[in-house]
Amino acid sequence: MAETGLSLTARDRALFERDLSGWLPERLFDAHVHLFDRSTFPAGFAFPPRECYQRFGGESTHELFADAMAALLPGRTLGRLAFGTPHRQADRDAAARYTGATSDNRSTFGMTLVAPSDSPEVLERRIRECRLIGFKPYRSYVTGMDPEAVRVPDMLPAAQMELADALGLAITLHIPKEARLADPDNQRDLLALCRRWPRAQIILAHIGRAYWFSNVVGQLDALADCPNLWLDTAMVNHAEVLQYALEHFPRERILFGSDAPIAWLRGKSVEINDQYAYLMGEPYAIGSAIYDAEHVVQFTFFYYEMLCALRQACDRAGLSRAEVEALFWDNAHGLCRGIARRLHGA
Ligand SMILES: [Zn+2]
Repeated sequence: MAETGLSLTARDRALFERDLSGWLPERLFDAHVHLFDRSTFPAGFAFPPRECYQRFGGESTHELFADAMAALLPGRTLGRLAFGTPHRQADRDAAARYTGATSDNRSTFGMTLVAPSDSPEVLERRIRECRLIGFKPYRSYVTGMDPEAVRVPDMLPAAQMELADALGLAITLHIPKEARLADPDNQRDLLALCRRWPRAQIILAHIGRAYWFSNVVGQLDALADCPNLWLDTAMVNHAEVLQYALEHFPRERILFGSDAPIAWLRGKSVEINDQYAYLMGEPYAIGSAIYDAEHVVQFTFFYYEMLCALRQACDRAGLSRAEVEALFWDNAHGLCRGIARRLHGA
């Protein structure tokens, strides 16, 4: 495998064989994947040296996904919902073209990145021409405001939501604000969004970014009543957070997601004093990272840590085998396939 590929240690393989291989379903649908190639960025663009995409040669391609998944999940059938990386310099048209070209609308699906300044006409054209099923906004696309003051409606203007409602599109939403899922404005804004545009399907990325336990407790009850709200589990390494979600939110609207390729780095997200940090086995800058420069421990991939945490959560919450299989495939695949069929006759 190329140097940007993944190589597994004996310890990684032993973990997979012992804890995951016999438990994981045969099919895994990853509802949160960042895929893009260099055509998405201006000529001469380079990520900073410690940006995680540098680990993979400055891009995250369809081919890398296939190689990484073959290494991490030998013998499994993979599906995915992918989008570019929401970088200010990314060309959103080019990113939509790449995502569309690497999606078949059968087991692989794509979204376009969107900024509040994108007109609904531009958005609809990208979705139809590239045969995508929705869009992904991001806080950094909101300009002219203090980033901490940004609220959900600033990221998703009404004109874009009207389009999402009219076409029944999916939106993967990385919510703003320091208090994340527990922020009262976010709670209000999410309920209002789901009620005002009931045919738009809102996927709350990373369980609303609740990477520590107190951030999720009591915060899913109102949201659970919105039939068009979904959760993805991307980068949640915390078994209690996952268990809580499985016990307080309709299981058929919880989607396995990874945040690949970030999840292919070695590390683990841990709760510390009502916060969280990414303990890193590789020196990449991903948010609140603490790098183990002394190599005190041997890390495995975030991806495996997530799967192990999910297994514990599913066991403790008493999921049936059918519910586990739905979490890893049917929930997300059914959502994406339904939209693709309606929109593109695919
Ligand atoms: Zn992501």
